Amino acid sequence: MRRKLFLSTFAIILVTLILSLLSVNFVFKHQFTDYVAKTTEDSLAQLPNRLSSVYTQHGNWDTLSLYEISHDLPVGAEITLKDTQGKIITALTNPMDEMMKKSMMGMGMSYSVNNWKTQTLTIKGPQDNILATADVRYPSDAQILDPKDLSFVTAVFRSLLLAGALALVLGLLLSLWTSNQLVKPLRNLTQAVKRVGKGHLDEKVLISSQDEVGELAQAFNSMANDLKSQEMLRKQFTADIAHELRTPLTSLRSYIEAFQDGVLPPDQENLAALSEEIDRLVSLSSDLKDLNIAEIGKLQAQSQSVDLTSVLEKVIRNLSPLIQKKGIELTTQLPSEPVTLIADERLLTRLFYNLIHNAYKYTGEKGKIKIELFVRPNSADINVSDTGIGISENELPFIFERFYRAEKSRARETGGTGIGLALVKQILLLHKGTIDVQSGVGKGTTFKLTLPLKTETQTL
Ligand code: ATP
Ligand code: MG
Repeated sequence: MRRKLFLSTFAIILVTLILSLLSVNFVFKHQFTDYVAKTTEDSLAQLPNRLSSVYTQHGNWDTLSLYEISHDLPVGAEITLKDTQGKIITALTNPMDEMMKKSMMGMGMSYSVNNWKTQTLTIKGPQDNILATADVRYPSDAQILDPKDLSFVTAVFRSLLLAGALALVLGLLLSLWTSNQLVKPLRNLTQAVKRVGKGHLDEKVLISSQDEVGELAQAFNSMANDLKSQEMLRKQFTADIAHELRTPLTSLRSYIEAFQDGVLPPDQENLAALSEEIDRLVSLSSDLKDLNIAEIGKLQAQSQSVDLTSVLEKVIRNLSPLIQKKGIELTTQLPSEPVTLIADERLLTRLFYNLIHNAYKYTGEKGKIKIELFVRPNSADINVSDTGIGISENELPFIFERFYRAEKSRARETGGTGIGLALVKQILLLHKGTIDVQSGVGKGTTFKLTLPLKTETQTL
C-alpha cells in the first residue's frame, strides 16, 4: 500500500510536469515565435532607408557602416546587396548568427532551416533613383536565435524544471507521510488480529480517526468484545453445567450409599426421588442436545396439526403442583374451542414449559402468574406474565443468548444453565413466530409471543 501510494504520487507529479512543459513549449512555438517573426519583419522594413543613407552619406557602400547595420539585422536573416546591373556588392548577416549556431550545436540542438521567406527590397536615393536591390531571405518558422530571447526561454524552462523537481521532492515526502499515517493503524490492526487469533481477547486498538480505517478499528474492537463475552459465557456455562451435573449425581450417590448401608429402605418413595434426579439429568442433556442441533440448523420440526389450547393446558397441568406448592396464584385465559395450527407439538410443549417454568422459578411466594391465549385473524398471541423479580433493562438484550443468566438469578441459586430461553428463541424461529419481552426489576416480566396460524396444507 505504501509503495502504491508512493508510486501514484510520483506518477501524478511526473504527468503534471510533462504537461506543463508541453504547454509552455506550445505557447512559445505559437506566441513567442510570432512575436519574433514580427520583430524580424519590422526591422527589415527599416533596412532600405538605412542602406540608402549609407550610400548618400559616403557616396559608396562604406564597409564599416554596412558592418554597423549588420549588427541590427534580425538573427537568421541573410541579405544579398546587388547593384543595378545585378552584380553582388556584399552579403550581410548579423555577426551573432555564427556564434548562435555554434552555441546551439554546443547545447546539442541542431540549427536547420527548412522554409525560407524571401523578399526583394529596392534601395532608392534622394531623387528616387534606384541605388541597389537587396535580396532578403529569413526563416519562415522564426527561430529563437536572439540571445536575449533564447536566455528567456531557457530561464522559463529551467525554472519549470526546478519547480517540478521541488514538487517531486515535496510530493514524495508528503506521500511518505500520508502513507505512514494510513499504514500505521492498519499495521496495529494486523498485530491485534494476530493476537486475538492466539486467544488474547483483551486486545483493543486505538481509534484515532473517523474515516474508514477508524470504522474498521471500531468494528474490530466490538468483534473482540463479542468474542470475549462469548468466551466468558462459555466458561460460565462449563461451570454451570458442572454444577448442574454434580447436584443430581451427588444426590444419587448418597441415596445409593444409604441403600447399601441399610440407612434408607429402597421403597417407592425413595426410588421416586431417585427417578426425579435422573429425570433432571435427562432433561438437561436433552435441552443441551436440542439447543445444539437447533443452532447448527438441524432441528427438524414435525409438521402436524396441533391444538395450542391443549398444549398450554397440558404444560400448565404439569407445572401447577409446583406453582401451588410455592403459593403462587395462577390464572389462565384460554379460549374454550381448539386453536389449531401447523407446528411441532413436542417443541411447542418445550417452549411453553420453559417460559412457564421460568415464571415459576423467578416468582416468589404469593406472586402471580397469568397465561393468556388470544386468537387473531392470522396468528395466535400468547402472553406469559408474572409478578416476579424481573429483569433489569441492561440485561434484557442478552436473556435469549445461550448460557446467559441474569445476575440476580445466579445469586439466588435458582439453578438453571441459561439455555431455556435460547431454545425458546430457536423453536420460535422454526415456527416463524416472534417473541417480545417487557420487564422491570421487582415489577415482574411479560413474554408476548405470536405464532402464525397456518392452514392444513401448509408445512413449516
Ligand atoms: P434454564 O432455563 O436453562 O434452566 P435459566 O432459567 O437460568 O436456565 P433461561 O430460561 O434461558 O435460563 O433464562 C435466562 C435468564 O433470563 C435467567 O437466568 C433469568 O435471569 C432471566 N429470566 C428469564 N425468565 C425470567 C422471568 N420470568 N423473570 C425474571 N427473570 C427471568
Ligand atoms: Mg429457564
